[in-house]
Amino acid sequence: MRIYLDYNATTPPSPAVIAALQETLPLVFGNPSSVHYFGQQAKAVLDAARLSTATLIGGDPSEVIFTSGGTEADNFALRGAADAAEPTGRRHIIASAIEHEAVLQTLKALARRGWTVTLLPVDATGIVSAASLEAAMTPDTSIVSVMHANNEIGTIQPVAALAAIAHAGGAVFHTDAVQSVAKIPVDVRSLGVDLLSLSAHKFGGPKGIGALWVKRGTRLAAVMTGGRQERNRRAGTENVPGIAGLGAAARLGVDKLSAESDRLARLRDRLESGILARVPDTAVNGDPSQRVPNTTNVSFDGIEAESLLIALDLEGIAVSTGSACSSGTLEPSHVLKAMGLSAHRTQNSLRFSLGERNTDAEIDRVLDVLPGLVSRLRGITAGKATGAVASASS
Ligand code: PLP
Repeated sequence: MRIYLDYNATTPPSPAVIAALQETLPLVFGNPSSVHYFGQQAKAVLDAARLSTATLIGGDPSEVIFTSGGTEADNFALRGAADAAEPTGRRHIIASAIEHEAVLQTLKALARRGWTVTLLPVDATGIVSAASLEAAMTPDTSIVSVMHANNEIGTIQPVAALAAIAHAGGAVFHTDAVQSVAKIPVDVRSLGVDLLSLSAHKFGGPKGIGALWVKRGTRLAAVMTGGRQERNRRAGTENVPGIAGLGAAARLGVDKLSAESDRLARLRDRLESGILARVPDTAVNGDPSQRVPNTTNVSFDGIEAESLLIALDLEGIAVSTGSACSSGTLEPSHVLKAMGLSAHRTQNSLRFSLGERNTDAEIDRVLDVLPGLVSRLRGITAGKATGAVASASS
């Protein structure tokens, strides 16, 4: 049996999502901008999906702009807000040090354009403090972006408090909610944000489709220019089947959120406590309570995360490391590094992220297999270390 524990990377499509794609792709082929029947049929699909996406996050359908996914939503939020703010001369942007690359790389692009970028530190559990944002705000700060839940450790940020501080300083507030939407209740009004990114494939929808929620009245320039789609804010003929899939996933998200999040939290906690009890020298990274219910990130002393990931994959168990492996060398996780973890711990941690298909039997299997794999790998590492000492002294 193959066990998928990498739901934060992507999720299998839910049956209702597959049905929505199968119905829409062949039958609803009109261009939503066309005036005739076929166009209006496609526009009705967009309207229905816009309503269910807005309902999932407590927004108004007119505030939902469909994008090609979370990366585009983040780019749109930051570049669009920056373009809109530039005439005011306030070119300072603040974000957390643990944002996804979709935000971090966009900040680098803004820095190349003359923006000043401040990255806020996080504490040892990965939380941004209100005090650090207050201290970082300047009269030039026009944008603040702090993610809702982190993709590697699942930690949830105090977004409402941070948004209030940004607003007090006259800045717009964006949150990347790609990892929180449909995992925990996300309500744009109680979070008090101006811009919120989401991505369908993280909650049972298709890949390549997402949305940016834009609070009415927020100053945001179009980034994708061309036709007048999406109220003239995001040009390009809409991905109608993808949007239908996002709509179906959003409807499911609303229906299942509370029962599913309780079930996942129970499975995750069983996995986590089982690992800590059965595998010595392990520790959980992140905040134990302020985190999404499906995620745990565990450090395994004395091994490289990538080796354990491969060993688990050979046993049919798919997990992930937060660290990027480029050309054979393991880059430390920027998230764990920002939390002040030791260099070794930034490279020996695995993320287990659960979802709707996971069962108790799968957790049992992982807990049966993991201790043996870890002790085998630790044996190899210890052997290598002894060999290295011997050759160095000879
Ligand atoms: N933001 C976060 C926090 C993510 O985890 C991801 C995906 O890994 C993205 C943005 C990018 O979303 P997408 O894959 O839809 O481009």
